[in-house]
Amino acid sequence: MFSKILIANRGEIALRIIRAARELGLKTVAVFSEPDKNSLHTMLADEKICIGPAKASESYLNIPNLISAAEITKADAIHPGYGFLAENPRFPEICETSGITFIGPPGSIMRLMGDKNRARQEMEKAKLPVIPGGDNSTEDISEAKKIAKKIGYPIILKAAAGGGGKGMRVVRSASNLEEQFSIAQNEAKAAFGDSSLYLEKYLHKARHIEIQVIGDTKGNVLALGERECSIQRKYQKLLEETPSPFIDEKFRKKLIKAVHDAAHFIGYQSLGTFEFLVDDRKKYYFMEANTRVQVEHPITEMVYAIDLIKEQIKIAAGNKLSLSPDLRLSGHSIECRINAEDAETFIPSPGKIDFLSFPGGEGIRVDSAAYNNWQIPPDYDSLVAKIVAKAPTREEAIKKMIVALEMTTISGIKTNIPLHLAILSNSDFIKGDYDIQFMEKFLDKMNSSRKKG
Ligand code: ADP
Repeated sequence: MFSKILIANRGEIALRIIRAARELGLKTVAVFSEPDKNSLHTMLADEKICIGPAKASESYLNIPNLISAAEITKADAIHPGYGFLAENPRFPEICETSGITFIGPPGSIMRLMGDKNRARQEMEKAKLPVIPGGDNSTEDISEAKKIAKKIGYPIILKAAAGGGGKGMRVVRSASNLEEQFSIAQNEAKAAFGDSSLYLEKYLHKARHIEIQVIGDTKGNVLALGERECSIQRKYQKLLEETPSPFIDEKFRKKLIKAVHDAAHFIGYQSLGTFEFLVDDRKKYYFMEANTRVQVEHPITEMVYAIDLIKEQIKIAAGNKLSLSPDLRLSGHSIECRINAEDAETFIPSPGKIDFLSFPGGEGIRVDSAAYNNWQIPPDYDSLVAKIVAKAPTREEAIKKMIVALEMTTISGIKTNIPLHLAILSNSDFIKGDYDIQFMEKFLDKMNSSRKKG
């Protein structure tokens, strides 16, 4: 086992990793940028070290500074969290040459899954159905026109190197392909330094369903029950739940087996998530795989009563997977992502938290790095807290979440709690009758009733 883990991240996920490491008896090192000097992760780790200024490219994305920080503090492993360098294949490779264990999959798996088009091709070989689309990504509009014609409209353009919904554009007909192609290319170039796009059939009324995978270095892989992540705004998840109200035990088993076999086929190691779109006839299509811990991993932990991060650390140290293939999920869990933003306009609202009080009690989990009088730096993402509820049934989990949100106070900044409360009281949501278009319709309705009012 390692003796000390450096956490190449900040915010709630840095705290989450500190907690797991400490439970395993390991020391931790926090890294921080200048504006994060007073962030909670720097106070709760055993050691802390500044790695640069606010700009992520000069701090949290700065590989030489991170490796130096690990060498100075004698950390023998690095956990990347999510975002920042978590899916950059160069990071595990550089860690390896520096004699530091990277807690995550090897660079070769990241390279394979990081290019959405290559990942699709590989998953087809692994017998997972993929969304109908072009064979290759392209930077050429005339090529794109040909591919789009072959697939048939509507289509969706995606940045080949993409993530976080950037560089994605839905194109409903041939007449606006040229314009949307150029917008998506510019966005992709700015976000990922690569303007190649690939084209896919746009699936209307689908659900975003994802499967958690964990594999060790000895060829053992486990796939777990689904997370339903169709409540999204601008391709960003807002609220997740497990199990999905749409999926029955038979379909769950089928999906778990298909993902298990595909993950086994590519020799998947560490934590990962296979994302799918599932249409209303329960046909599933592989969308992409994320080679890291997901923001929404706590709901899986709640229904399976497991600790994915502790397992991930143990596997990185060479241990055999200790989770049993007979694990069964029990109860229902929901996560609300609480962002520092206006609940109506979605304009970010960083600033000072004057007063903070989180909910508690049986079945409630809060993952957050916020505290009273903390000045939220404007430089990073707006996630302030993940509030997670678990109860025996979906109906009870919804009620528990509503009460938890009503009992949360975060003053001084604006948050999207009112939006979550409105979603949780929506009759279609309560029935479990929703898909990836839900939020668009929901917000349109809210805006038009506001205008009338
Ligand atoms: P990113 O990596 O940028 O997060 P994903 O490929 O994971 O992008 O897609 C994010 C979301 O975009 C999905 O959850 C889904 O809502 C929507 N989406 C992606 N591909 C399609 C598609 N072919 N048809 C309809 N919606 C899609």
